[in-house]
Amino acid sequence: MTVRAPRRVLTATATALLAAAGLTACADGTGAASEPGKVGVVAAFYPLQFLSERIGGDTVSVSNLTKPGAEPHDLELNPRQVGQVVDADVVVYLSGFQPAVDEAVEQNGGDRAFDVAGVTPLRDAAAGGHDHEGEAGHSGEGSGKDPHVWLDPTRLATIGDKLAERLGKADPEHAADYTARAGALRAELTKLDTEYADGLRTCKRREIVTSHTAFGYLTERYQLEQIGISGLTPESEPSPQRLAEVAEEAREHQAGTIFFETLVSPKVAETIAREVGAKTAVLDPLEGPPADGDYLSAMRTNLQTLRTALDCS
Ligand SMILES: [Zn+2]
Repeated sequence: MTVRAPRRVLTATATALLAAAGLTACADGTGAASEPGKVGVVAAFYPLQFLSERIGGDTVSVSNLTKPGAEPHDLELNPRQVGQVVDADVVVYLSGFQPAVDEAVEQNGGDRAFDVAGVTPLRDAAAGGHDHEGEAGHSGEGSGKDPHVWLDPTRLATIGDKLAERLGKADPEHAADYTARAGALRAELTKLDTEYADGLRTCKRREIVTSHTAFGYLTERYQLEQIGISGLTPESEPSPQRLAEVAEEAREHQAGTIFFETLVSPKVAETIAREVGAKTAVLDPLEGPPADGDYLSAMRTNLQTLRTALDCS
């Protein structure tokens, strides 16, 4: 008797904790994230959330596993978020980018997972001029591929078309709506692509020094060259030797601006900028939601920043 009473208390506490964490919502299979009558989409990070919302419209409910302000590369999932993956109708993720999401999808995603890495062939991590990922000691997730595919608007449009197909399979009744919205988004992304191509056609410089090597797809598409201070993941600490190399390259290419990111400390960029007498500016890799606006407006801000830094006419 004296044993059972405390046990009951513990059980009640555990139930309360589970309820607070949203785990009890799993039982009916609808999931904490989704609204009744809507397709529940779980997106792994911001650009995939943007795509899912734009293409899904009001017949899907989208939740993002990477909270605003968090850096998505090293995302860890709490039990509630694993529950969201379990309960989702469609999980939109990019394999090789976020190991915790890969694992959750492998264990719980089943055929509800939509891997955007499989839509268009990804660049090799080491591809392109000044990347230096290997030297910067980035952890690499073993795929040897550059995950930052969303920074090429035309590739994002293609991913959008495939996502519309996938949503149409999950919700055949609204398939035509998903296709139409993906088409409308493609038109907007094509316009953005044209603005980039025009805006970066004639510039005094074509090298950009970035805090991590996130812009390979963008620099490849618009014939720029990226000098990444750290590798493909932002948290790798660049060595003094790497900093010296970047400073030398920045001087050599007369870089007037060293770029840093919204989600990463500007300290390293500031150090190099001071050393070579350059300014710093924000170039947003869109790994999290922009402070205001959306993917399209943040990409336009990036274009203006690049045009100023590279002295484009
Ligand atoms: Zn990144």
